[in-house]
Amino acid sequence: MVRSPKFTWNEFKINRVKSFKYLGIHVDDRLNWLENINKQGEKAIKMHQNLKRIAGGNWGISQIHRWTLYKTVIERMLAHGSSAWCLNPTFKMKRKLSSIQRPFLLHISGAYRTTPTAALQTILGIPPLHMQLQFEARFTSIYRLRIPILSFITGTQPHDLEMKATGWSNHPSEHLKLNQISFADGEAYVARKDINIFTDGSKTEHGVGAAFCVLSNDIWAYQWSAKLNDNNTAFQAELTALHEAVIYASHLPNHNTSKIHVDNRASIMASSNSKSTNETARQIFKILLSNPRIKVSWVKAHAGNIDNERADQLAKDATQHGQPYSHPKLPKPHIKGLLRKRMFEEWQTLWKNGDTGRKIYNIMPSVSLRPTKWIREDVIFFSQHGPFPAYLKRFHLSDRDSCSCGGIGTALHYATECIYTVSWHMRKPAPNFEQEWLKRVANNLVSRQKIRGIIKFISENRDLFRPP
Ligand SMILES: [Zn+2]
Repeated sequence: MVRSPKFTWNEFKINRVKSFKYLGIHVDDRLNWLENINKQGEKAIKMHQNLKRIAGGNWGISQIHRWTLYKTVIERMLAHGSSAWCLNPTFKMKRKLSSIQRPFLLHISGAYRTTPTAALQTILGIPPLHMQLQFEARFTSIYRLRIPILSFITGTQPHDLEMKATGWSNHPSEHLKLNQISFADGEAYVARKDINIFTDGSKTEHGVGAAFCVLSNDIWAYQWSAKLNDNNTAFQAELTALHEAVIYASHLPNHNTSKIHVDNRASIMASSNSKSTNETARQIFKILLSNPRIKVSWVKAHAGNIDNERADQLAKDATQHGQPYSHPKLPKPHIKGLLRKRMFEEWQTLWKNGDTGRKIYNIMPSVSLRPTKWIREDVIFFSQHGPFPAYLKRFHLSDRDSCSCGGIGTALHYATECIYTVSWHMRKPAPNFEQEWLKRVANNLVSRQKIRGIIKFISENRDLFRPP
């Protein structure tokens, strides 16, 4: 009832609006993001229609291409800015997102319009939209916005994570000496007067290990190895070995030239690049910069070079028996995996406790992030949403549920007893074993071929199956 205050900025009047768009995201006056979801949904549908027009009609593209198109174009559009609005979606948002996702699921599967959304998600291996967007919002929040939301999601602490370093590690005019880094196979140049250090990292089914060994005057003078966390990558192991080796070399007396032989090109590249975003690589770069007598050169792996093989063996042994090494941080793919697992578990729980799509649940109790190889006919038969008189009656599309042969027109009727579909018949299960029977049929390719034959036959001869 009270007139709102007037705003002016340098004599310009600023009008009040119900919502505004900033960086492609609609912010509304209630801050509930529904306006944004609606607008992004409309945009996605428009985009989809245009793509369909290019491809030529509904059935112009195969199912796997429809699936890919959804995952790579439509879902990407809907995910825009999700870290700003979908970190903790409300019930209303979840419902709205589900209604946006539904027509796409129907289009990909070719299912009947009444088929439950939850069943379509499981069949297609596409999680509920709000879960997918929340997964992405969490990932972006951790790595781009650096919001420490992780501890209560994955049980790890923010300082456990390997983050990209930002900004310059050194002034761009500072660079390594030309002869400090070599990508020529260094094996031939093992000079006896130098101290030669061989590094290696290893990841096997037993774990992750890093090692280096020091050759001085043809004598193995020192060796170091450690066992990393099982979640660390082979690249992290290589870098850790190189890092420990340059620290060791930097403490040697000043008159020695040391040459570090590395069989991993990527870690040499990262460590000689002042703009590398890897923290460990940056630390190696700094040590190399202030110690020009330390040289790094590439050596071909597994080329029968016994010095290098020794480091390789040390690293392999360390994967099992090495001293634990605590510095390396959890790599990004590992965290992504944890978040994906979390989404997967939430989806599985929802599917298990849901009250729709139970016919499909009976056949597929576990969700998967990969699509099943079901085609349209499979979806129609097993969801039992299709051209069956019993179905049409249930959804008030017909007033009788009987087949023209006289039996009740259920999916099972056509697969086992209807006189019009004899050529595809399978043995009829005892009434208590219907669920077992459906499961077995779904997992048997020969039976599935029969099912597909029946559905195609009914769809093409509808008049035959309508009672007079
Ligand atoms: Zn019949």
